[in-house]
Amino acid sequence: MDYYSSQISNLIEKLSGLPGIGPKSAQRLAFHMINMPKDQVESIAHAMIDARNNVRYCKECYTLTDNEKCPICSNSERDHQTIMVVETTRDLAAYEKTGKYDGVYHVLHGAISPMLGIGPGDIKLKELIERLQGDVDEVIIATNSSLEGETTAMYISKLVKPTGIKVSRIASGVPVGGDLEYIDEVTLLRALEGRTEL
Ligand code: ZN
Repeated sequence: MDYYSSQISNLIEKLSGLPGIGPKSAQRLAFHMINMPKDQVESIAHAMIDARNNVRYCKECYTLTDNEKCPICSNSERDHQTIMVVETTRDLAAYEKTGKYDGVYHVLHGAISPMLGIGPGDIKLKELIERLQGDVDEVIIATNSSLEGETTAMYISKLVKPTGIKVSRIASGVPVGGDLEYIDEVTLLRALEGRTEL
């Protein structure tokens, strides 16, 4: 990329390090930014820095949030005795979009994968078990239906069962290997309503 100024090359290189952005997209974005009004570029840069600096885990459900507790955990109208366990904050958002689930969540930030060397201690499982000491009626396991998601679901059900708390798994209306965040709301709702007790 010697034919560009070193600052343009640097910008292209940094952008192409982002997921889903290849060299061509990075070039297109870089030239787009250079032609944008300065204040717009600054507001993008600030949004990135602010999010990186201030976003943290909710102290209850471990979703990503700006405050100590996320808006869902802070909401007294929600059913705090029902906990839906999901792999990522994006999965939580997918269920929230349906507008039909009024319980709370627990975000694992991953799934158990012996192949990738991700064990139970690498995701927020200990934190889930700690929450079960409180007043909980049901744990709904909504991990993906991938091998990792199923392994994690089995692991959780074994942990929860001895506590006597009801534990259920969302129905397999969710296609095998399907990422929850790409599945439409109707399918998600069917999977939730058709959940089976483990
Ligand atoms: Zn929360």
